[in-house]
Amino acid sequence: MSQIEETNLINTHEAQQFDVVVIGGGMVGAACALGLHKVGYKVLVIERHPPTRLWFSASDYSPRVSALTRASENILRNLGAWQGIQDRRLHPFVAMRIWEANADEEVVFEAQSVREANLGYVVENNLIQSAIWDEMVKAEVAVMTGCELSSLEYDDTLYKSKIVLQSGQTVFADLVIGADGAFSQVRQMAGIGLDQHDYAQCAVVGCVRTEGSHQDTCWQRYREEGPFAFLAMEQNVSSIAWYLPIQKMQWAMGLSDEAYRDEIFKASEGRLGRIVETWERAAFPLTRRHAQHYIQSGLVLVGDAAHTVHPQAGQGVNLGLLDAASLVEVLTQAKEWRERPGDFSVLRRYERWRRGDNLVVQRAMEGFDWLFEPDRGVKDQIRGKLLSFGNIVKPAKNWLIKQALNGREPLPKLAKIQHVSLFK
Ligand SMILES: Cc1cc2nc3c(=O)[nH]c(=O)nc-3n(C[C@H](O)[C@H](O)[C@H](O)COP(=O)(O)OP(=O)(O)OC[C@H]3O[C@@H](n4cnc5c(N)ncnc54)[C@H](O)[C@@H]3O)c2cc1C
Repeated sequence: MSQIEETNLINTHEAQQFDVVVIGGGMVGAACALGLHKVGYKVLVIERHPPTRLWFSASDYSPRVSALTRASENILRNLGAWQGIQDRRLHPFVAMRIWEANADEEVVFEAQSVREANLGYVVENNLIQSAIWDEMVKAEVAVMTGCELSSLEYDDTLYKSKIVLQSGQTVFADLVIGADGAFSQVRQMAGIGLDQHDYAQCAVVGCVRTEGSHQDTCWQRYREEGPFAFLAMEQNVSSIAWYLPIQKMQWAMGLSDEAYRDEIFKASEGRLGRIVETWERAAFPLTRRHAQHYIQSGLVLVGDAAHTVHPQAGQGVNLGLLDAASLVEVLTQAKEWRERPGDFSVLRRYERWRRGDNLVVQRAMEGFDWLFEPDRGVKDQIRGKLLSFGNIVKPAKNWLIKQALNGREPLPKLAKIQHVSLFK
């Protein structure tokens, strides 16, 4: 378990000044805080939950996992957090197989076809967060945990934000980073609107042990009710993502262990054999959200606070980490050019960089959703053709693999260069 040492905790009732205050110490917020601290900003992280929720046990599996791309791996390596993940648990996957229920066609993406060792890693979210927090602790980034926001105001004569907590503590910052997730209070307090679409679907997630091996492969089957996926975790252990109409969420969460195992077997067409063991499950209603703006003077949104996407292609935190790396790069340059980090013109560079990319991914997920929703007509034919086309036209498939693995240009430096620390 990560130990947040006393030195990192701010416990004073005197108002404090920081260059940057990050609200929300999840994977994305913590990555921003660590990166900005490393380039010389005075940073404070305010996190609602105490860090006891972080990864704690190798004999248990947390229900929430992410499939990390090479770009995310590079970012975490450059931040110094990759070793902490490797030391605990991560699993590379070398292939991805996608097929449609009751159809013969299957598309297979393989790492070796693009001369890569793998197509990414499956890692538990709280483990990623723990590894970054450990680095924050070592670097002595200031943190406040277990606290709630009371108000947030920007003073455009002082160029500073005033953050008041429910405890009465006050903090001043040149820049506030809203990294407080999909239901961002920072976004609401800043009055930033949201475009959203309810998928009327939920995802049930959790780890399972299967009779057969996952073969270091992620498996995704498209069914009438929504996709079903196995993400390779450890020997014969996979994380599942079982998509269902939202009306079935309570039913799925209320299933006995035995009935749950049977339903997973059916949803996966028994591809990995019987389900022999299950761990804690969780369910999430799915909504696409996009903040109408990512920035205001003195304030910026990152990660799920700015955008959420359908998780079927496992892009959410990968996009968030690209937000973090891009913001660190923009603010590093601002420091060199002696600009204020909260200036609208500085933050606009970040917004221009990231908003379009996030929008493209959201739209692509929408396209997938449209294509794979139940239909007995033309969509069935398009799907069949696409799946067989995907297997035949190798250059197109390899291009897709590289885009998904490495991210789209222009990439931030932290996402590009592996094994080289950019913070020297
Ligand atoms: C079913 C499912 C499967 C997914 N699979 C993948 C995948 O395979 N790959 C992938 O890339 N993404 C995936 N995602 C998306 C991914 O989980 C999210 O994009 C990611 O968790 C977002 O990280 P974040 O740090 O922005 O936000 P969060 O993880 O939500 O963290 C926000 C943090 O802010 C804190 N906080 C909240 N409010 C406040 C407040 N007012 N004050 C202080 N602190 C606050 C919270 O405690 C939390 O620590 C999946 C999502 C779902 C639902």
